[in-house]
Amino acid sequence: MRALEYAAIGIAHRVSAAKKVTAMARGKKIYEGKAKTLYEGTEPGTLIQYFKDDATAFNAEKKDVIEGKGVLNNMLSEYFMVGLASIGVPTHFIKRLNMREQLVRTCEIVPLEIIVRNYAAGNMSKRLGIEEGTQLPRPIIEYCLKDDKLGDPLVSEEHIAAFGWASQQDMEDILSLTLRVNDFLSGIMYGVGIKLIDFKIEIGRVYEGDYQRLILADEISPDSCRLWDIETNQKLDKDVFRRDLGSLTDAYTEVARRLGVLPKNQQPVTKPTLIN
Ligand code: C5P
Repeated sequence: MRALEYAAIGIAHRVSAAKKVTAMARGKKIYEGKAKTLYEGTEPGTLIQYFKDDATAFNAEKKDVIEGKGVLNNMLSEYFMVGLASIGVPTHFIKRLNMREQLVRTCEIVPLEIIVRNYAAGNMSKRLGIEEGTQLPRPIIEYCLKDDKLGDPLVSEEHIAAFGWASQQDMEDILSLTLRVNDFLSGIMYGVGIKLIDFKIEIGRVYEGDYQRLILADEISPDSCRLWDIETNQKLDKDVFRRDLGSLTDAYTEVARRLGVLPKNQQPVTKPTLIN
């Protein structure tokens, strides 16, 4: 096993012990998703977002538990959310509480998955017969209805307007927020030798008096992005699990290592050397 994998798994083990302490502070379970659970937060208007080790693909037809994944996603998502907030993108993230949990702002999730594609891959390649890795003429945004039972179907802006899932103003705000997220993430990734192929985000609605505002919600992690090494095209994202390409922990740890997200003191345990 590689040194960095030890580091991530080491974090995960200590978290299981810490879980007993933090569980006391949580409120009741609000929602359990495939990779995360939401609990009532300690303050009104907050939630605790708990990152599980569960990995699922193909609408949960493929499942596994990948030790350390939740820890890595929690830390990576914090890193991206904090960076985005620093350039003025509003997010639900308040603070990371521990290795698996973060405090987030309560919001009403817009029932859409917003997908940005910079290079063809996955569903787009399948649907349109474009070879994976082909650079697109410009970032292409797609909307899917958030509905597991229907398999999150692709929908058009016509559907969104007609069924009232978001208003015209919401769609304009979502577009500008999404493009800012894409520019930020693409740049950060490029800086560490990674191509941002595509990603998915979710948007939340918050009410402030008579006004409502849209904010970035959910998570940004290698679970929700496609990340390829610039030199080798090696996949460093959930496709490693979807397509059985090797160790998912190795891939996510590599992303965290390049971004400097792994705690500096997470070194593999080395045995002392006896000097005669
Ligand atoms: O599967 P597809 O090619 O449409 O995925 C596009 C991007 O959106 C990928 O990065 C994938 O990980 C992400 N995605 C997601 N959650 C979904 C669907 C797609 O994070 N339910």
